[in-house]
Amino acid sequence: VYGNFNWYQIVADIGNKPWMNSTDRIITTPRHYAYVKISEGCNMPCSYCIKPVLNGPLKSEPIETIVDECRTLAGMGVKELQIVSQNTTDYGRDIYHKPQIAELIDRISDIEGIKWIRLHYAYPTNFPKDLIDVIATKENVCKYIDMAIQHCNEDMLRIMRRPMSKDRLVALLDELKSHNISIRTTVMTGHPGETEEMYQELKDFITQRRFDRLGVFPYSHESRSYSGKHYEDSIPETVKRERALELMAIQREIYNESNLNNIGKRMKIIIDGKNSAGCYVGRPENSTPMADPKIIITSDKTLIPGEFCEAVVTNSLGKDMEGTI
Ligand code: SF4
Repeated sequence: VYGNFNWYQIVADIGNKPWMNSTDRIITTPRHYAYVKISEGCNMPCSYCIKPVLNGPLKSEPIETIVDECRTLAGMGVKELQIVSQNTTDYGRDIYHKPQIAELIDRISDIEGIKWIRLHYAYPTNFPKDLIDVIATKENVCKYIDMAIQHCNEDMLRIMRRPMSKDRLVALLDELKSHNISIRTTVMTGHPGETEEMYQELKDFITQRRFDRLGVFPYSHESRSYSGKHYEDSIPETVKRERALELMAIQREIYNESNLNNIGKRMKIIIDGKNSAGCYVGRPENSTPMADPKIIITSDKTLIPGEFCEAVVTNSLGKDMEGTI
């Protein structure tokens, strides 16, 4: 009814005056981290996606507005910022005529009190190289990037309308790795046209590249997407799901092996709170809330959400870890 942007009208229509300025925030996450949306909409033509249909083309917030919002959040006690948009690496192209994500993150990193800045939803084609420098050199920018690749087979990527050569994709992943930047990626199984051979290529890629974090989603045929209009939903649902489950099983093994390698090692973590069993739950720098591996902590000392601690890994729980302070 109101769309994604007109929340002030909701307040007006229930008979109140908006009480917030555009940079004010009500934090609905645990108070030590917050999501910061830097733009809406997307200019990319990915075949399966209806976000551009729903949200329109890229519309970036000015740098100053975002920096003010982040400063407000820091003043409210937020220590970790999750930078989000539909396509983070395209940020600023509409208002500054070139991507300005590196400049934006650089400016945010100077805000006092912000300890971790985490980037989500990067796009691999034309990845801005100056962003790699900012991530690598700024101490409070997490050595972490959330960048969906969706597939590795070039024909599949072309059908998905995300053309990219495999060589360039591998070169980008290698460059990020060479700067010790952990990569969270997402892939899709069962997009129209995905043959068994293409799937096997993706499976080999996931097995060999050993992504630090991985999400896998079976293709969903949305009628308003390009795929919905131009492709037949050709892969049976069971096949889409089996492929996704197989890739997730491979990734669980990778998590477990990595956790076993970490036993005895120390890592800086942030405490998010307690789980239902009463244990503390924390995250290392290369884990985002809700999606990535956690570390379950036993501690006699009271730990406060948002507190940074040094944890020692004591056990692997498969995807998650156990540890002590
Ligand atoms: S998948 Fe991401 S980059 Fe592609 S159109 Fe959708 S929002 Fe844009």
